[in-house]
Amino acid sequence: MKTTLDRRVLLRLGGGALLGAWTVRSAGPRAAAPAGGYRWRNWSGLQSCTAQALATPGDEAELARLLRAAGAAGTPLRCVGAGHSFTPLVPTAGKLVSLDRMSGLLAQDAAAGTATLLAGTRIAQLARQLDQHGLALRNQPDIDAQSYAGAISTATHGTGARLQALHADALALRLVTPAGEIVDCGGGRDDDLLQAARVSLGSLGVIARATIAVVPAYYLKRKLWLMPAQQMLDAAPELARTHRNFEFYYLPFTGYAAAIVHDLAPAGPASRPESQDEDMLRELRRLRDWLGKMPSLRRWVAQKLIDPGMGEQALDKSWRLLSTSRPTRFNETECHVPREAGIACAREVIARLERRDDVFFPMEFRFVQGDDAWLSPFYRRDSCSIAVHAAAGEACDYLVTDLAPIFRKYQGRPHWGKLHAHRAADFAALYPRWNDFLKLRRELDPRGLLLNPHLRGVFGVAT
Ligand SMILES: Cc1cc2nc3c(=O)[nH]c(=O)nc-3n(C[C@H](O)[C@H](O)[C@H](O)COP(=O)(O)OP(=O)(O)OC[C@H]3O[C@@H](n4cnc5c(N)ncnc54)[C@H](O)[C@@H]3O)c2cc1C
Repeated sequence: MKTTLDRRVLLRLGGGALLGAWTVRSAGPRAAAPAGGYRWRNWSGLQSCTAQALATPGDEAELARLLRAAGAAGTPLRCVGAGHSFTPLVPTAGKLVSLDRMSGLLAQDAAAGTATLLAGTRIAQLARQLDQHGLALRNQPDIDAQSYAGAISTATHGTGARLQALHADALALRLVTPAGEIVDCGGGRDDDLLQAARVSLGSLGVIARATIAVVPAYYLKRKLWLMPAQQMLDAAPELARTHRNFEFYYLPFTGYAAAIVHDLAPAGPASRPESQDEDMLRELRRLRDWLGKMPSLRRWVAQKLIDPGMGEQALDKSWRLLSTSRPTRFNETECHVPREAGIACAREVIARLERRDDVFFPMEFRFVQGDDAWLSPFYRRDSCSIAVHAAAGEACDYLVTDLAPIFRKYQGRPHWGKLHAHRAADFAALYPRWNDFLKLRRELDPRGLLLNPHLRGVFGVAT
């Protein structure tokens, strides 16, 4: 085992796709199944449950029968995608339903710019299948392991000042309701239901298929470079304005931040340097482990070792650059604040994080354009998203206790799939269509078949 701080490795702080690539292995609905129940846990290991069973319907008719049977027996039921949410959206003592067998592209229309897919399709599979038809998603999140339905259900997003979250491209959805009825919305039919269902936390029904807006396949060039953190905070709005995708990562206790931009580029031979992200993370953790109790020394050492001139460039198809993988597991909070408040909020978050000596994960800062889905955290609000991580297995309660007061001050709307402590009254104040959503949910699921304890708290429904 290496015991000295390897300068060449730390220097890669300046070199890296460093920041993108903590790989994901699906921890979806595949955990061991002890006798008498189905044991499930999420990707980070923070959430778990023993459900009565895991159901994997193969088509919509089977899914509808499943919901009718659960309704008749009064068995609660929760959908699970890839299990990549950090909040307890999935755990149930009832039945889990996975659409892993309902996956794949059904049709595409390049002229219309649309594609229809089964909702269990993983984003990685979707991107590859679209590419085979010369098509692509407009934008992608950091990773592509999520199921399509799971991703839109929590308003999963990428970065880009003029790019919306994934659900905004859902033009039509097919839902199987708690009563076991198959209902289509969008494409001229029941637009209210579409705007509610786009981000619905698995509470209105099971999303079985979707028709989405897609774009012609495109190449991106990536540039990554380091900047002193204060300069990055000043430059971020302009960088977001002038690049298709811009984000930055603040590297705690180093005084530096890494900018990553992606811009459209002509097709060409792919060039992607090998990811050094894990090395970077390991070195940041090592600095924390050795010098965490001496923050001034920790900062001094980091600044001596970082080469601010380091950088990286890459060229490839959009889906190969926008999403990456993350081997190191973590827990995460993320809050979406009004665009104009983003930088001020980030400054406060950074100051708060640097009062803790155990922090080492980079803080991620992204831009997302507003949309119209009722429970979208970007509802009619262009936003900045601030995400803070803690290594899996380490304390993570501070992600909520320390940061929530700052996010609240800036009217932040939490990511539905990332740690937060908001409850119904908080959401009612933040979401103009909150009561409309609650009314629709009651109409579709009067008995609360699709609720679990977490969602009862979120929606303010008595147990
Ligand atoms: C390493 C990592 C990186 C991440 N990066 C990003 C990122 O860049 N941007 C971002 O916004 N988020 C990100 N996330 C969060 C993640 O995208 C969301 O939590 C997403 O919801 C996970 O999708 P999933 O398929 O795992 O869904 P799950 O976590 O399994 O489920 C999420 C919700 O969807 C519901 N659901 C699942 N399937 C259906 C269905 N068929 N019908 C109705 N409801 C359904 C579930 O009931 C649950 O409420 C990341 C998470 C991890 C672990």
